[in-house]
Amino acid sequence: MPFTKLGLSDPLLRAIADAGYTTPSPIQLQAIPAVLNGHDLLAAAQTGTGKTAGFALPILHRLSQHNYGANRPVRVLILTPTRELAAQVGESVSQYGAHLHPRLKTEVVFGGVKINPQMMRLRGGVDVLVATPGRLLDLVGQNAVKLDKVETLVLDEADRMLDMGFIRDIRKIIALLPKKRQNLLFSATFSEDIRKLTTGLLVNPIKIEVAARNTAAETVEQLAYLCNKANKAELLCHLIKTNDWQQVLVFTSTKHGANRLTEKLNKINIKAAAIHGNKSQGARTSALSGFKAGEIRVLVATDVAARGIDIALLPYVINYELPRSPADYVHRIGRTGRAGEEGQAISLVSHDEVGALRQVEKLIGKAIKREQIAGFEQAAVAPPMPPESPRAPRPPRNNSQARKPSGNAKPKPKT
Ligand code: AMP
Repeated sequence: MPFTKLGLSDPLLRAIADAGYTTPSPIQLQAIPAVLNGHDLLAAAQTGTGKTAGFALPILHRLSQHNYGANRPVRVLILTPTRELAAQVGESVSQYGAHLHPRLKTEVVFGGVKINPQMMRLRGGVDVLVATPGRLLDLVGQNAVKLDKVETLVLDEADRMLDMGFIRDIRKIIALLPKKRQNLLFSATFSEDIRKLTTGLLVNPIKIEVAARNTAAETVEQLAYLCNKANKAELLCHLIKTNDWQQVLVFTSTKHGANRLTEKLNKINIKAAAIHGNKSQGARTSALSGFKAGEIRVLVATDVAARGIDIALLPYVINYELPRSPADYVHRIGRTGRAGEEGQAISLVSHDEVGALRQVEKLIGKAIKREQIAGFEQAAVAPPMPPESPRAPRPPRNNSQARKPSGNAKPKPKT
């Protein structure tokens, strides 16, 4: 069924066309009519399924049917567990609402940054507020926002919010909302705690379940390029250039490794940015938005940093190094593919990582195709690595990763 049959208004259909979506994803097919009809929703869906559009489009449709009111009280409240998700949902809402007249005002508030600018932004009123629970309560406490006109509440990634200990904050927030409202709850898993939360919150909800992305990993083509550790960076540059990849997420196992690779890519004019635990929130947010806007071609991330971000829409994910835990591999490759489209996950596997590759195969229960790239073939025996920087000698992390000095290679800084 095309989007045009779902009952959405023309300005929203134009925004959908602008976004390049041609057919609704399974969750959208179910959620859009249900939300348009005013039902409560209980949806089992992860990031990557198109769930944001699934709730944002019908919410915007309903919002725009009524006058916005002079002082713009918050009419839609979307709670998310992380600032990154809040920022992304906010962006999506603005994007989908771009053609609505009069324009809707959407604001995003989250903790970890100064509260004053957020208070200023809320002053003129907002129609849609996307927030993390703790900061929202702070803002309410400072009288910066009122929630007594909320018509629709969305709990996005409810399981993660509970995991992060937000249950009491969520209950406090719910107590501030009008009794009569529409409630939409999205969660990847349904623990006892989620069930408790939904009882009393949702009224006769429509239940929707779509396949979890990780179990649908079959739609992700997985490849391992066997190579040598010493020229992985060159191999990656070669792949980016010859395949003309425009948006690549690259995983490294260390923060230093991420920095080093980013520097190398930038040096040869492949615009790259790193996100990891040593980067400030501002630097991470700007790297992420630059990446999404197409200004940054390669985002280099560590597993920990990537866990907090929600970019599940990528055609390519590269494992520059295989993760230490095979489960992280599954998380990483779960980030490829747009809703309903295929993605490619490529691992650059050097001699010392063949064991890790086997572990991954054991976990996912299937073999990953091994290939070699002409000019970067894996040597029969692991070639010696360049020596460590003489100024910063460090013992090897373990035997398999020990770097053996070679006579004439250039000294390399430590990972
Ligand atoms: P979400 O699950 O909401 O995080 O969305 C995952 C990604 O899928 C987002 O980047 C959307 O832009 C994209 N997306 C959402 N709906 C569609 C659709 N119907 N067709 C293609 N891509 C979509």
